[in-house]
Amino acid sequence: MSKMRVVQVPHPDGPFELVEREIPEPDSGWVRIKVQACGICHSDSITKQGAFPDIQYPRVPGHEVVGIIDAVGPGVAGWAAGQRVGVGWNGDYCGYCVDCRRGNFFACQVAGKVTGVSYDGGYAEYMVAPVRALALVPEELSAVEAGPLMCAGLTTFNALRNSGARPGDVVAVLGVGGLGHLGVQFAAKMGFKTVAVARGSDKEPLARQLGAWHYIDSQTQDASAELQKMGGASVILATVTSGDAMSALQGGLAVRGTMILLGAAESMEVSPLLLLMGSRSVKGWYSGTSIDSQDTLAFSVMSGVRSMNEVFPLERAAEAYERMMSGKARFRVVLTTGN
Ligand SMILES: [Zn+2]
Ligand SMILES: [Zn+2]
Repeated sequence: MSKMRVVQVPHPDGPFELVEREIPEPDSGWVRIKVQACGICHSDSITKQGAFPDIQYPRVPGHEVVGIIDAVGPGVAGWAAGQRVGVGWNGDYCGYCVDCRRGNFFACQVAGKVTGVSYDGGYAEYMVAPVRALALVPEELSAVEAGPLMCAGLTTFNALRNSGARPGDVVAVLGVGGLGHLGVQFAAKMGFKTVAVARGSDKEPLARQLGAWHYIDSQTQDASAELQKMGGASVILATVTSGDAMSALQGGLAVRGTMILLGAAESMEVSPLLLLMGSRSVKGWYSGTSIDSQDTLAFSVMSGVRSMNEVFPLERAAEAYERMMSGKARFRVVLTTGN
């Protein structure tokens, strides 16, 4: 039996360990993927820290996976060895529960799984995944390019395309980091009047280069007032993890405007009066399922949207993870296996 290298977390809050394991065989309905690249996402901290109940350790994190199918389990239709695929956050669903039957596969209560949390993910040379989690990766994208689009890209793209904003509407993206630098690009390419909002002036040139029509420095300007001068934002895509920053920007919403929360802040304050007087709303957005990932990749090829990445080899996963968690990475961090 041949071996593979994986980077595992031995227990909650444990260190990353580079270990050898047997290469797994795919079960019925699953495939084996020879992993080429895996992005590091802030949500990998759930596995690292044990933030979800019932995580079984040791666990291999990673849900921005790109690789080649190299073995197919029994009963698999529609997928074959040699296809290039990606696996994102949504790791599986049952297809028959009430939520699945209503098309809300992401909310499956029966077999809902998260890649790299419920089963081993992509910090590895090989992984196995159910076919329901697979997205086709177009050949125009390198594995490193496609990786971060599987979660950070998907989340921003899918939230924006389902936001109800129309071409020409003011859409503000709060934060120009790992999520925000993709959100600005997608919003601009979708034809929204894209306004980037961030602290300080240093991110303005980059935001404009990414396609922002306007930039607001929230340290020196009243960002809500600035948005109102433009008629208010139909959508504010909140990509930061600061509840205070989210709260401070709700006054920038247009009548019927929506703030979509993507950053997992602990809490935020909302003004019920502000919401009800203008039929405004604050909502969250679940990233998406595998077909949404596939749409994200296709749109990115078509429009030229790309993540800006720092690349590390698999064996330096611990250092790469710290780099991401420090907030200093510009802007996503991706592991490569050499495959
Ligand atoms: Zn993620
Ligand atoms: Zn279900």
